[in-house]
Amino acid sequence: MLSGDIRAHRTVLPPATPDDDPLRRLQAEMQPSGEVHLRCTTHPEEIAVTGITVMCPRCSARRDWMVICDRNTVSIRCRCSHQWVERELSRQDFERMIDSGGEYFPSLEAAAQSAGYDGTLAGTYLAEQR
Ligand SMILES: [Zn+2]
Repeated sequence: MLSGDIRAHRTVLPPATPDDDPLRRLQAEMQPSGEVHLRCTTHPEEIAVTGITVMCPRCSARRDWMVICDRNTVSIRCRCSHQWVERELSRQDFERMIDSGGEYFPSLEAAAQSAGYDGTLAGTYLAEQR
């Protein structure tokens, strides 16, 4: 009976095809040394924390964020390159932001440069108003 159960489980489980699993492939790329914990995503919409819309304390931006998850600490980074830890946001909140269509980056440097959060685009909204 026991061996029958095992056989049944084996037939249910699909053969190991890690190449077909984008998440597993991403994890393999992410952790060549097993020490990568920092993940980033972009979030073009506003973020409400405990019912209050997040606002950049430096430039008063209210959207277009980069969100950084370092283990269980979530930080928000603004276009003006100001960055702070948002203690009300959890890893689960971060996962939800990725699900909502954010762009995923393996490191803070890669995200800051390719997404334009290194300060080079600071004030681009204002330039359009001239
Ligand atoms: Zn800002």
